[in-house]
Amino acid sequence: MGLLCVNRSLLVRQILLGKRPITLPEYPIDMGRLKGPTNCFWCERECECLTDDHVIPYSLGGTLEYAVQACPDCQNRLSKAEYEVARKSMLAIHAIASPVAPRHPDRPTSGHLRPSYLMVKHPAGGYGETLLSAGERASLLPYFEIKVMPGEPLEGRVRGTTDEARRLLETFRRGLHNTPGPNRFLFQITVNLDLHEDISSDPQFWPRIVLLPGDRLLVRARNPEEVQRFFHIFMQLATSDYQVPEKWSSDQGTEILGGTQHLMSLRFDPQAVRRVAAKAAYGLFRNLADRSLEQELDLNIRQYILGLTDSIEEPVFIEPDLLNIITSEAPHFIVLSPVHDRKASIVSLYGFRFRVQLGEAGALPEPVLIFCAIDGSGMRRGSTQELYTVTEQIKGLHFLQPWQLIDKPINPDA
Ligand SMILES: [Zn+2]
Repeated sequence: MGLLCVNRSLLVRQILLGKRPITLPEYPIDMGRLKGPTNCFWCERECECLTDDHVIPYSLGGTLEYAVQACPDCQNRLSKAEYEVARKSMLAIHAIASPVAPRHPDRPTSGHLRPSYLMVKHPAGGYGETLLSAGERASLLPYFEIKVMPGEPLEGRVRGTTDEARRLLETFRRGLHNTPGPNRFLFQITVNLDLHEDISSDPQFWPRIVLLPGDRLLVRARNPEEVQRFFHIFMQLATSDYQVPEKWSSDQGTEILGGTQHLMSLRFDPQAVRRVAAKAAYGLFRNLADRSLEQELDLNIRQYILGLTDSIEEPVFIEPDLLNIITSEAPHFIVLSPVHDRKASIVSLYGFRFRVQLGEAGALPEPVLIFCAIDGSGMRRGSTQELYTVTEQIKGLHFLQPWQLIDKPINPDA
């Protein structure tokens, strides 16, 4: 993933590739101060502008029943991780398949999946760009694709409806008429070179410019050279008097048949997912148990949840096989201090289970079970019978530290 800045004189000005650097900003967490109603639950700094913070993200179905009070800085840090989880991670598939109601009633959906790519074999040739919106069926996105293989004749295709294709071209042309900013940039286009080798080795894949929701533009190609070749041609097209024809014979439809195989790549920070699990366990613990954790552990876990730690040892343990994705309506649950693992909490989000270590003081006299409906319809305490059933499900689970999985092959039979 990179950013392409379009400039009138120099088309491909800068392509930034690779991972964003990880920085841990100065962000003091106060300890040992008297906590009052004006102290942030996460950093404990005093703030007059605290707001409700869902312990389970709203986008995953969390409600305000067990909310805590957080300052804007912490809200900001946490919501970045929650966005990553709810729109880009493996949990995002579930959040899109079983969405909560949108926050704004006038919006038809509550967001889109943000994969690195989501493509189908286009019935009329090549690879179609696909969009998955919350609660809706997959639909095709509009794009212009141009075959720019050196030594081969140029060929181009336009996908999408006439209106969509015109809108794409207009968005680009409008950008070219922007007043250049101080760095001479006109506008930005995301460049994505992340392609499965089956696609990149297929001559049927042509580089393209895609119109994403919100009138954002994306260029997808095999490599930076192909981006340059594509842009050279597309720029000629965009600055000519070319008009998208009123009608063309093939593929006007944007519906994708059920059962169509999709090629997808999700790129996300897996620690963001673990932080969200830790937040659910710690937030509920502090909310429901009339006690705190040991001071050092308490500080560590809050720093971890806020993304302020780079220690290899994490308070969250994961299951070795987190790859199965089967959507269901089953609720999330959190068991605080389960009988077989008193100093931990087990968090289940869409069936992905996490073990959050809460230490000696995290051992409660009795386990506590909380359910959270995935459609946002509510959170509740589980009954004794439900606690028994859930405990049976989780007591044989095997959890590892995330770093333990890095060098170990995952054995599907284990
Ligand atoms: Zn705070």
